[in-house]
Amino acid sequence: SEKISILGVNVDKITLKDAEERVKSFLNSNTINTIYTPNTEIVMEARNNQELKSLLNKGDLVIPDGIGLVYASKIKKKPLLERVAGSDLSMRILDIANDEGHSIFILGGKPGVAQIATENIKKKYPNIDIAGYHHGYFKGTHIGHKNHEEENEVINIINKAKPDIVFVGLGAPKQEQWIDENKEKLNCKVIIGNGGTVDIIAG
Ligand code: UDP
Repeated sequence: SEKISILGVNVDKITLKDAEERVKSFLNSNTINTIYTPNTEIVMEARNNQELKSLLNKGDLVIPDGIGLVYASKIKKKPLLERVAGSDLSMRILDIANDEGHSIFILGGKPGVAQIATENIKKKYPNIDIAGYHHGYFKGTHIGHKNHEEENEVINIINKAKPDIVFVGLGAPKQEQWIDENKEKLNCKVIIGNGGTVDIIAG
């Protein structure tokens, strides 16, 4: 779909429904597809952070998770259509996974939260195959404490679980950086950086 530049971040001009269709096509592909969900704050941060801007612009689907982005686009000839929240798209992804029988891995949140989230998913979406889960405080995520051994262990855990979809909730921009750094190593079809969605699902 068409991308609209908001302060240099190329955001897809789509509705939630369009985004769902993109996810379905990603799930039918044989490649890994990244979904980023920047809000206004992150786009503002990317203005002065070339690295963050360029990695967001590598996203296969970049949804406008902030009404401020929609307002900012109104000065364009072709404005964004609506706010598409990362948590809303994530819930639709669960519906799609339940309808089509896909498997999911939940990465992120404080220790214990991803487990509660997966239990809630199991109750509500009986056809989703929960491939696995892991909290978001493994050492590789601590800035200045790069521990590639522990980080690779998380990659191995995910790959052994063979998920179709990976939810990555490490907070922004950590989750985007983690996805960009590791996507080539992951065997899955859809990877979405979705912030506090794990906390929402855990309730
Ligand atoms: N989080 C995590 N690892 C980290 C930092 C954050 O798993 O190193 C999780 C946190 O527990 C929460 C989610 O990331 O579930 C979103 O965090 P936060 O609210 O700080 O991020 P934002 O809403 O700003 O994206």
